Amino acid sequence: MDKKFIYADNAATTQVSEEVLEAMMPYFRTEYGNASSIYELGRNAQLAIEKSREKVAAAIGADPSEIYFTSCGSESDNWAIKGICERLAPKGKKHIITSVFEHHAILHTCQDLEKKGFEVTYLPISPDGFVDPEDVKKAIREETAIVSIMFANNEIGTIQPIDKIAEICREKKVVFHTDAVQAVGHVDIDVHKSGIDLLSLSGHKIHAQKGVGAIYVRKGLSLPNLIHGGAQERNKRAGTENVPAIVGLGRAIEIACANIPEKAAKVTAMRNRLIDGILKIERTRLNGSRENRLPGNCNISIEGIEGESLLLMLDMFGICASSGSACTSGSLDPSHVLLALGLKHEVAHGSLRLSIDENFTDEDIEYILETVPKVVERLRAMSPLWEKLIKGEDIK
Ligand code: PLP
Repeated sequence: MDKKFIYADNAATTQVSEEVLEAMMPYFRTEYGNASSIYELGRNAQLAIEKSREKVAAAIGADPSEIYFTSCGSESDNWAIKGICERLAPKGKKHIITSVFEHHAILHTCQDLEKKGFEVTYLPISPDGFVDPEDVKKAIREETAIVSIMFANNEIGTIQPIDKIAEICREKKVVFHTDAVQAVGHVDIDVHKSGIDLLSLSGHKIHAQKGVGAIYVRKGLSLPNLIHGGAQERNKRAGTENVPAIVGLGRAIEIACANIPEKAAKVTAMRNRLIDGILKIERTRLNGSRENRLPGNCNISIEGIEGESLLLMLDMFGICASSGSACTSGSLDPSHVLLALGLKHEVAHGSLRLSIDENFTDEDIEYILETVPKVVERLRAMSPLWEKLIKGEDIK
């Protein structure tokens, strides 16, 4: 029998879809022109970029002139925060508001700015994984340059009250950025309706390739360049455009945003089966609220086991999963997101994130639900920590 292979780590990255690959292919070999060249081959490349820009804009309720392509979600995050801080610092605005459970693309950017004299307020999250808009309101001061709160968290999937936060920022006349890398394609987004000033997105979370992203910059908001050089992207972002990747992103976002409610209903039902099934294992807990959660996200702490061992054993059964965010899985530190929820270190260590998508089947869910309890039982049988836990001993 063939070994099973189940990819349940779509929050880390996704497989490039057939449709996306097909859309990209001509731009490698036939339409390979430089989009800055004036002959037809170049003009075709520029045309393809503009078509893709229209698709990205349509997917999030923006105008095409408000979209710039970047190399990834991290670049978009860096650009938003560093750009606004650079522009507003001379006016005495050297304060940033963000939250403790942002992706490192935001947290490390803020930490870098702290070294350069900016002050950062890291807002806490509630035990079920939400930033309180009232906290944002209270933290805003005269010197606040930007508020950056993620649309949906990459580890626990909680969808933040973005409209409310955007409204507060608008009232207080503070720029509002949201990292929507995990939300785009899963949640309906309308930047104009929500009053968002800046939004980051990335291709590889929605079945486009790695290494392409975009930023939405509200019309009228001036954002200094992050990358200097040629006149690409209307003089705002230098570097010869990665035409196949940009075309792929356009096709991917078009597909991902075409039928969000229908897709979300299907994925949420499967996700709930997963959550309910895994929670039947004793001493487990769901991390993050079940309501206002990304459809495909399941994050559960399993006491008495090490996340790393769990992932390795699941891999032996053909299941790809994650224990924290992909970027930190090389580290043994517990996830900053789970710690922010108030979990103890040893409980945070034993977490399992399964991120599924619309390509999942009931059989895939069944297989995971058969495998996880088996693996947990084996690991607990070998774990001195588990022995202490069931004896009720203090595990510190
Ligand atoms: N922001 C969030 C919430 C993410 O989940 C990720 C990737 O995991 C990023 C930013 C970074 O995106 P990229 O990998 O395209 O740089």
